[in-house]
Amino acid sequence: MPELPEVETTRRGILAGLTDRRVARIVVRNPHLRWPVQADLSARLRGRTLASLERRGKYLLFGFANGTLLVHLGMSGSLRFVVADETPRRHDHIDLVMASGQVLRYHDPRRFGAFLWQSGDPFQHVLLRDLGPEPFSPDFHADYLYAQSRGRRSSIKQFLMDADIVVGVGNIYASEALFRAGVHPLRAAGRISRQRSARLVQSVRDVLNEAIAMGGTTLRDYVDSRGEQGEFAQNLFVYGRAGEACRICAAPIRASRTGQRSTFFCPVCQR
Ligand SMILES: [Zn+2]
Repeated sequence: MPELPEVETTRRGILAGLTDRRVARIVVRNPHLRWPVQADLSARLRGRTLASLERRGKYLLFGFANGTLLVHLGMSGSLRFVVADETPRRHDHIDLVMASGQVLRYHDPRRFGAFLWQSGDPFQHVLLRDLGPEPFSPDFHADYLYAQSRGRRSSIKQFLMDADIVVGVGNIYASEALFRAGVHPLRAAGRISRQRSARLVQSVRDVLNEAIAMGGTTLRDYVDSRGEQGEFAQNLFVYGRAGEACRICAAPIRASRTGQRSTFFCPVCQR
């Protein structure tokens, strides 16, 4: 599933790859994504120039003078540049055709992604307005994390993955940030000290920054990809390593299943 580093990598890849920001048209082969793609989207975008491309959480915000195209990659979506005459594959649902002839193609087998038009302030869109702070923003700091976690009985891992608290920290990055901070993932959020909150803020940022620098963990098909797994996969300390030796203390990494998710941790390094 694309997480924040993959979305940020996609954003940077699009900005670096676009040679001309004018849109010729949008081709919608299948409008049935998580929400139906509006029929008038092509009319709104035709001839418009992309003024900005921002990210909020896992949403990409394609900014135009007349509004914003909000794009979410869902569970399995990806955007990549293709040459203009490349035959669409199965699940290639949408093309953003640029005036230059470049085509940005949206592929999404599971169709949980979204292409939504917002005329007004995009940050007031119902999907964005209640999101917690960005992990790299000054609003995400130790005192904030500490105050928000008081009285919470949910695990610190669940708490970090709650988009109302901080956006863009999925299962992989929550697991890795907790390992680096030495915090046991199943510990109650309300029992994390102020000092450990500070360490967690730092480790969340470090893990995400490294993953962005390396092009994500699960990248296979994104705009700048060469068909390989994102390099960050090599830097994982705990995620997906159950039974393997901890890279720090050599104890076997443990996995615990809660609901649909697996939680990975070192029973020695994390308390
Ligand atoms: Zn260890």
